[in-house]
Amino acid sequence: MSGSPAAAGSVPAERYAQRIARAQAEASEQGVAALLIGVGSDLRWLTGYAAMPLKRLTMLVVPAKGEPTMVAPRLEILAARASTAVGAGLVTLASWEETDDPIQLVAQQPAVRVAAERGGRLLVSDRLAAAFLLPLSERVAPARLGLATEVLGRLRAVKDADEVGLLRRAAQAADRVVAGIIGGRLVGRTESDVAREVRTRLEDEGHSEAAFWIVASGPNSASPHHDAGDRVIAAGEPIVLDIGGRIEGYGSDITRTIWVTGGHAEGGPDDTYRGLFAALQEAQEQASRGAVAGASAQDVDGIARRIISNAGYGQDFIHRTGHGIGLDGHEDPYLVAGNEQPLRPGNAFSVEPGIYLEGRYGARIEDIVVCTEGAPDVLNQAPRALAVVSGA
Ligand code: ZN
Ligand code: ZN
Ligand code: ZN
Repeated sequence: MSGSPAAAGSVPAERYAQRIARAQAEASEQGVAALLIGVGSDLRWLTGYAAMPLKRLTMLVVPAKGEPTMVAPRLEILAARASTAVGAGLVTLASWEETDDPIQLVAQQPAVRVAAERGGRLLVSDRLAAAFLLPLSERVAPARLGLATEVLGRLRAVKDADEVGLLRRAAQAADRVVAGIIGGRLVGRTESDVAREVRTRLEDEGHSEAAFWIVASGPNSASPHHDAGDRVIAAGEPIVLDIGGRIEGYGSDITRTIWVTGGHAEGGPDDTYRGLFAALQEAQEQASRGAVAGASAQDVDGIARRIISNAGYGQDFIHRTGHGIGLDGHEDPYLVAGNEQPLRPGNAFSVEPGIYLEGRYGARIEDIVVCTEGAPDVLNQAPRALAVVSGA
C-alpha cells in the first residue's frame, strides 16, 4: 500500500454502485442486517478507498437496505472523500474527532442498532483487527457476528470487466519484466541483486508497487518460496523467477524458469531436466486449457497432477496448482484437491504447477488465467518454454 492518499482509480463509480447493490442483495437474502467493513481489500472493492491501516477506526457500514455510511477519523476525511464511491455520493461519510468513540458511531447506525436490539446478524471483514472487533462485539451484543466473506467472497471471486482489465495490464507489465531479466546478465550476480532489478523493473513497467521477487537459482530452485539471497548465480543451472506487483491493487503473478549456460556449449540443461520440464509445460498448458466454466477447481488441479505423476514426478509436485487473484494476491478460488466448487466465468486464478527435486533443482511455470464463457483467457503471454540463455 502506498502512503499517499489514494487518487480515484480507473474503475468508474457505476461499478461501485453495482458492487454495493449486489452485496446488499446478497446480505438481504442471507438475513444479514449489515456488513461492517474495516480497512483492506473488501473496503477497496466496495468503494475504491485504499485506506491506510491505522490504530484509528475506519469502517464502512453497508446495511442490507439503504445508504452505506463510512465512519472515518477526521484526519482521514480528505483521503476518504477522494475515493470514487464517496466522491460519487454512493457512501455518506461520518467523521469522528480524536475524543469521540468511533465504535459508538458504528453502533448508532440504524441497521446496526436494530440488529443489536433484536439479536440480528452482522458480518465483519475477515481481517478486522481484534482491537476493533472485541469492543465492537461487546457493543452490539446480542447481535450475532459472522464473516463478511460469506457475502463478499462469492461476489469478489467473479471479476468484472474493469477488474479483468487491471489484471491484464498487470500481467502484461510482468511479462515485460520477465523478458527484460531473461535478456540481461545473470551469471556471476547474486540472487538479491537480480531481485533488486526485478523490483525496479516491476515499477518501471507500470506497477504502482512491487509485491514479491523470488529469484531461486541452482539447488534453491527446488524451494518454491525461496527468498532471494547471497547465492551467486553460476553457469549451467536453472533460475526460477516468480515475481509480481500491483496496479490499483490488482496483482500480477508470473513464474518463468530460465537455464543459464554462461555461453558454454556444455552448460545446457541435462536430459533429466529437459524431461521434467517437458512434462511440467504440458501439465501447465493442459490445466490452463481445462479451466473452463463448470469444471471444478479440483479438476484443474487433477489435470496438472496426472500429467506430472505419469512422468514420474507426482511426489515432487508439492503444492496446489493455483490460487485466485484480485485485490488479494491469494484469494478464492483455490485450485486444490477437495475443492469441488465449479469455476465460473470471471474467476481469475494462477495455474502454476512445479516439480522440485530437493538438493538438485526445480522448475515452475505460472500464468494468470481468467475463466470465461468460452476458452480460458490466459493473461500472461511471455513464452513458457525453458529459456536457455547465455546469461553471461
Ligand atoms: Zn506461492
Ligand atoms: Zn507466483
Ligand atoms: Zn501464484
